[in-house]
Amino acid sequence: MIIVMKPMAKAESIEQIKSIIEAKGLEAHISPGKEVTIIGVIGDRSKLQDQNLEIFEDVDKIVSVTESYKLANKKFHPEPSRVKVGNVIIGGDALVIMSGPCAVESKEQLLATAHAIKKAGAHILRGGAYKPRTSPYAFQGLEEEGLKYMKEAREETGLPVVCEVTSLDAIDAAVKYVDMLQIGARNMQNFYLLKEAGKSGLPVLLKRGLAATIDEWLNASEYIIAEGNPNVVLCERGIRTFETATRNTLDISAVPVIKEKSHLPIIVDPSHATGVRAYVKPLSMAAVAVGADGLMIETHPNPSMALSDGPQSLTFEQFEKLMKELTPLATLMGRKL
Ligand code: PEP
Ligand code: MN
Repeated sequence: MIIVMKPMAKAESIEQIKSIIEAKGLEAHISPGKEVTIIGVIGDRSKLQDQNLEIFEDVDKIVSVTESYKLANKKFHPEPSRVKVGNVIIGGDALVIMSGPCAVESKEQLLATAHAIKKAGAHILRGGAYKPRTSPYAFQGLEEEGLKYMKEAREETGLPVVCEVTSLDAIDAAVKYVDMLQIGARNMQNFYLLKEAGKSGLPVLLKRGLAATIDEWLNASEYIIAEGNPNVVLCERGIRTFETATRNTLDISAVPVIKEKSHLPIIVDPSHATGVRAYVKPLSMAAVAVGADGLMIETHPNPSMALSDGPQSLTFEQFEKLMKELTPLATLMGRKL
């Protein structure tokens, strides 16, 4: 449940309500908004049964939150959240473009990509050092060596870096080198991993599971936030449907649905959603038009030689062209690029 305070509620009144909640063994989350402050209650609300909070002068109303996710819920936190990754803000006025190879393959490949995407105007470098491949015989990633190259790329270009983690060991290694952890689609409901990512102190990019509902996805984000880490960014990357013309089906409606249900920023990954280079531009445009806070786009110096996801990766020239084409649309949507 949430307690909506009256506009101009006194700080002492907010503190008083908070103490009452805590005295009952519940948690109180205070969300000071532009107009009103909201106090979210976490825990068994029946403990407050004999306490009528509505009688307090500065309390406007009590609203019950029926969804199982609370901290990720917009009712708990009506203002959109902004997540800082290095010096980049996701969820603000500017669109944030993450780009880079599917997998870190070599230092040369990663540095060339980092410089090219920076020149084209991207804000964050992505690259996989731990690859959750469908086949156990496919390239599994350079692991810690790949993370070292990511850090080097950040030092050379100044771009913050994001890397997927697939295990607790990977988290322990990644925190030494990267600015943001990525939890991939296949691990969206790996609850131990989510909790450890929550404890890591780094912002987390949480991709939607291959067959996850929006409710399950927001509950997954709740696992991270419940560990005291509010810095979660959601990434819609397509879901499994009966359609086989594309690798997945981009659920473009997830963007406005998430914006209605949650305060967390959401970006779109048209590369994994389609699996086809030619569809990356139209779906990037669609994502910006529907209000996404950013994009994640795979790029490679030579996609035909890529060790993973070559068919969906853009060349540097294609990426640069896409960035130019996105700019007027971003402006139309009131976003900087
Ligand atoms: C990736 O971003 O490299 C990746 C594996 O994506 P997903 O988890 O969305 O399949
Ligand atoms: Mn990939």
